Amino acid sequence: MRVAVIGAGVVGLACAATLTQRGHHVRWIDPDPPGRGCSGGNAGLFSLSSFVPLALPGAWAKAPGWLTDPQGPLTIRPAYLSRVLPWLWQLHRSSRLDRVVASADAMHTLLAPTWDAWLPLAQWAGASALIRRDGWAAAYRSKMALDGDALGWRLRTERGIRIDTLTGGSVREFDPNLSPAITHLLHLPDQGHCLDPLGLCQALARALLAHGADAPVPARALGFEVRDGRIAQVHTERGSIDVDAVVVAAGAFSGPLAAQLGVRVPLDTERGYHVTLKSPSVMPRVPLLEAAGKWFATPMTAGLRLAGTVEFAGLDAPPDWRRAEALLDQLPNLLPQLSHSAVGDADRWMGRRPSLPDSRPVIGRSPRFANAVLAFGHAHVGLTSAAMTGRLVAQLLTGEPPSIDLSPFAPDRFGAAPGPSSRH
Ligand SMILES: Cc1cc2nc3c(=O)[nH]c(=O)nc-3n(C[C@H](O)[C@H](O)[C@H](O)COP(=O)(O)OP(=O)(O)OC[C@H]3O[C@@H](n4cnc5c(N)ncnc54)[C@H](O)[C@@H]3O)c2cc1C
Repeated sequence: MRVAVIGAGVVGLACAATLTQRGHHVRWIDPDPPGRGCSGGNAGLFSLSSFVPLALPGAWAKAPGWLTDPQGPLTIRPAYLSRVLPWLWQLHRSSRLDRVVASADAMHTLLAPTWDAWLPLAQWAGASALIRRDGWAAAYRSKMALDGDALGWRLRTERGIRIDTLTGGSVREFDPNLSPAITHLLHLPDQGHCLDPLGLCQALARALLAHGADAPVPARALGFEVRDGRIAQVHTERGSIDVDAVVVAAGAFSGPLAAQLGVRVPLDTERGYHVTLKSPSVMPRVPLLEAAGKWFATPMTAGLRLAGTVEFAGLDAPPDWRRAEALLDQLPNLLPQLSHSAVGDADRWMGRRPSLPDSRPVIGRSPRFANAVLAFGHAHVGLTSAAMTGRLVAQLLTGEPPSIDLSPFAPDRFGAAPGPSSRH
């Protein structure tokens, strides 16, 4: 099959790679070079344990405190509030305990095979050296704060995630650089991280070209030509290409393309920021979660990357670099040697997580066109779940039974888009 993959983030590249491995002829379409969207700047965690949904019962009680704290983990631009309210309402509905448990179960099925899917894919791309499997650790500054997150940790333990809880002196034995204010450290030894998320995307792209993928189309995909009830062409800013199948993996920008394929998804973006310290005087032993601020400090090839938090401001608003500075301000909570004045040279970045209010991506066939598959909305776990998503997309396009139940990820679970037309 000639398969066009729209979007060269980690999800699209993993889909393209898996399809190429199965002998299909792949061409990716993206106006930007591989990995330059959300996928290159993330916190780099392979977090098999991140199946806990964004909104848990009781999170709403914490929201006002977060929203009024300029350094807090969550912010909403006032100008965007009315736009995002319907999404937040659906998020609220998803926070009922039975829905949280169902979502955690579904996401667990997607994330559990992460190593099984990623390790051979990284090897194929010549990028195995970019993957570390020594876990990550969550740092708390009081027992009360840890108790506040008890439900999330219980959901993880119940699904078999190994968690070692360290307290008092054993925290500093684990990593002597950690702040004495950290009273509890939860180490999840079976997780991992990527030393260079952008490098991983670039390695996948190089391997794709080496294995016969067509030269990428450096343009935005605009729509589709339909013939005999199938997608026959993808229209781009630089002309149209003939296809036997198409994969939409354009991250936070997938909504309009999905609508043309018959699905209406409440896709919004949780924007996040990073600051990468190029030559920090200390590095943590493993990636650390600053549990109160909900951001990670991840050791990478390029330096120490602080990344995380959530900002609702839509796709187009300019970055608010104060969100990145807030990460630097909080860094001494983890590593007191790295005070604001001691951080040195650093780069700053903003990325758009593609997010759905039930904290689950869309992975499935278009309800209208059997040769179109949608794969986007991976929110906080797109790096982790990309390789497994690639496997599922390849299974869908080749008619193999998917290796997990895909009904929780069905593209039309939020409803169908209005009326089909032959050309868009
Ligand atoms: C601060 C932060 C930290 C994160 N940390 C982690 C983490 O530790 N672990 C983890 O697993 N996940 C993490 N994530 C989430 C992860 O980065 C995303 O889920 C993932 O990158 C999404 O990948 P994607 O390929 O769907 O989207 P993207 O990487 O955004 O790629 C989409 C691509 O589509 C292209 N595109 C858009 N419109 C069109 C069009 N019309 N035609 C053609 N191409 C188009 C874009 O140019 C882009 O290249 C984090 C995210 C952020 C913001």
